Order: sequence, then C-alpha cells, then structure tokens
Amino acid sequence: MAHADEAAIFNKNEAKVDWHDKALWFVRQKRDKSAHKVKGWEELRNYASAIKANVLSNLDTYLIQFEENAQKNGVTVHWAADAEEHNKIVHSILVKHDVKKVVKSKSMLTEECHLNPYLEAHNIEVIDTDLGERIVQLAQEPPSHIVLPAIHKTKEEVDVLFQEHLGTKPSNGDPQYLTAEARKHLRDKFLKADAAITGVNFAVANTGGVVVCTNEGNADMGAHLAKVHIACMGMEKLIPEEKHLGIFLRLLARSATGQPITTYSSHFNKPAEGTEMHIVIVDNGRTEQLSREDFRASLHCIRCGACMNTCPIYRRSGGHSYNATIPGPIGSILSPGKDLTKHSSLPFASTLCGSCSDVCPVKINIHEQLYKWRQIVTKDVPQPVVKKNVLKMSGNVLANSKLYGFVGKSSRFMLKHTPKFLIYSKLNAWGKARDLPEVKGDNFEEWYKKRQKK
Ligand code: SF4
Repeated sequence: MAHADEAAIFNKNEAKVDWHDKALWFVRQKRDKSAHKVKGWEELRNYASAIKANVLSNLDTYLIQFEENAQKNGVTVHWAADAEEHNKIVHSILVKHDVKKVVKSKSMLTEECHLNPYLEAHNIEVIDTDLGERIVQLAQEPPSHIVLPAIHKTKEEVDVLFQEHLGTKPSNGDPQYLTAEARKHLRDKFLKADAAITGVNFAVANTGGVVVCTNEGNADMGAHLAKVHIACMGMEKLIPEEKHLGIFLRLLARSATGQPITTYSSHFNKPAEGTEMHIVIVDNGRTEQLSREDFRASLHCIRCGACMNTCPIYRRSGGHSYNATIPGPIGSILSPGKDLTKHSSLPFASTLCGSCSDVCPVKINIHEQLYKWRQIVTKDVPQPVVKKNVLKMSGNVLANSKLYGFVGKSSRFMLKHTPKFLIYSKLNAWGKARDLPEVKGDNFEEWYKKRQKK
C-alpha cells in the first residue's frame, strides 16, 4: 500500500494521532532547548558533516584500517555483502558455540536484515532487551521509530500486552510497575543467554573499537555476561579517530531525546578473557547509495531520529505507514534506493518544509533529496492516471498566463456560486478536514491594475 493509504489507517484513531503528534513534538522541543545550551552547536554540526563526508570519500581506507586495528585487538571481523550473508555469518558463529539463547540490544541493522525471524527459524531464541524493542517484539510488530520503537503504543496498551505475555497484574498503565516487571523478565533472559548481539553507533578506525549508546545499559549487560559478543554494523558507521567521538556523542543524544548524553556510551575494544568478540560489517545496498551523487550524503546519518520528531507528516501518520525499516524523512530517501517501485510513494510523504534538514545533526539536505527522488519516481515509476493527467493539466495552466487568469476567474466564480454540499462532496478530499478560503472579488493581477490606476 502507498504511504497515504497506510496513513489513513493510522488516522482513523484521532485521539492517538493527536497524542502521537504531541509526544514527538515534545521530544523535538527538548532537542531545541538542549541544542541551544551548547555554544557552537552549528560548528559541531558542520564538523560532523565534514567528518562524515571525509569518511565516505575514503571509505575503503578507513574500513581496512578499522579491520586491521580490530584484528590486532583480538576481534574477528566479518564482511557481509547483503542481509542474507549477514544473517548466515551471525548464525554460523552461534552454531559454532552451540548457542540456543541470544539477547540483543537495539540495532536497526539487524531489523533491516530481518535477523530475528532468520534465527528463530533456526530454533534460536532472540530476545530484544531494549524496553521499547521488547514491547514491539511481544506485540509482533516492527519498531515504528528508530529511537523510540514503541512510541505508537500507549502505556495502557503496554499494560495489556504485559498481562498477556509476562503475566503481570492490571495496573492501569502504571509505568513504574510495568518497567519493574520488564526488568525482572529481562534480567532472567540476560542471565540465561549464551551470546549477545549489539548494534554499533560508531566504529573508530584508528583504534578498531566500537561504541554503542543506550539509556538502559542493556548492551553492556548482554555483552559482559555472555561468552560471545557479536556487533553488527553498517559500513558507513565509521569515524576516523577516537577524538571525533567528542563531536558525535554531543550531537547524538541531544538531537535524539534532548539529553546531554546517553546514559551509557559503551566502548567495546577487545574481548574479555575467555570470551569472543565478532564484528560483522555490512554493505546491503550502501555501496550503491554511495555511488548516487545526489543521495550519498544520506549515509552521513547517525540515526538520531530528530528528522522524524520534527516532521509534520511522520508525527501525524505514524512510523508503520512508511512500511520500511527506517521510517520518516531519512527512511524516505534511503528506501527508494533499495526498491524504487515498492517505496515510490515515500518521497511524497513530505511537505518539503525543510524542518528535517534544519534539525539534522550531520546536516543532510533531506528535503532536497526527497525532491530529487520525486523527479526520478515520476520519470521511472508509472503514476496513477488521475494524478498524471491532473499534473499535466496543471502544468499547462501554470505555463500560460492567459489560461491561468481564465481558470482562476472561472474557479472563483464557481466557488462563489456552487452550493456547499457540492463543494464538500466526496470528490473533494482536501475539503474533508478543512474549509476552502473565502473567495474575494479580484485576483492579485486585477487588484494590482486597479491600484496602479489610482
Ligand atoms: S537524517 Fe539526520 S536527523 Fe534524521 S535520523 Fe539521520 S542524523 Fe538524525
């Protein structure tokens, strides 16, 4: 289904849309307050953007440097060309260690590769340990936001879900009680796990270490208790030097949730004695995106989610309406690169207001890339007949000033004299939720001419 059709489903529950919109706008405002407290915030964004551009221009060099340093630290490095290879590599490591239970901290890459269903099909239990992720896992739903995966669920819905799956008592959505119960449930899973899988926020080329940011400490807990730690990363996660973390860590948490820093910024450099550490570096379409000059900057993304929190479309249509692993504005420029036909509606899920580009900590020109994708989609993907014809007619009208004047005059006349029940009929989708503007007597040209005469 196209984004607009999926959004219409989410929009049926008006109270939820309202609450979803306000909740995300609250996070956006926290981001603003937090960012404004940092002197030189714009310089930090410029640095981050320049560092990422440098990484992408020298990706081969940095990847090799990272691999060599990680190997020196005693880490096994694997390379995966696509999702299938990534899943096979992870599975083979788990099989080698006879692992039956895995705990996983939040990783959008493993979502992208559909690792959970793959491992479950091979009789391996995978437990997502980030609370939001665990909630959507129990609900058998994908995350709807990259930082706040269960933002589409109310606390009352979580209450019912926990009663069903964890045997909790009804609490009327008491967050403290529900969190304490989730903690007990997850602690048991941590203690019984044979391996831990984490994502990677930053991979440092000059040390070979990786940094994982969480608020719940679940990445640390998993990796420190299990005998095998597998860190899965997209190949664009590199930064050249450890000192650059000072820039990215300051930007990431403030942009994501308005916190000055995530509660845990965990550095994993080498395996502890008696344990193994593996890093899987994944391409899965990133090289192709890198080769698209207009879209390569989308690989700067540090997955803070700020563009989602600010986007008027995302806030009112919900993450699931994008039908993609990464929703929102950044997802709408990443997904068409993977499957243009399937995701052809996403670049249109935007007002092109540019708010996403304004908040992006690594200065991705998101709204410009959305506009570029629109041009490609209209050329390469068959468009609905009505839309095609309406746009063609509009183009002709806008290109001819006399015709434009005539159509304007006729439309104003019709709007003035047509009965309301006809104007607000089923054919007028725009008028379903809004009133059309009051029709004035003159258009601008006529008003201007009269004014000149005076
Ligand atoms: S595109 Fe920018 S704002 Fe959006 S998630 Fe990525 S880094 Fe954050």
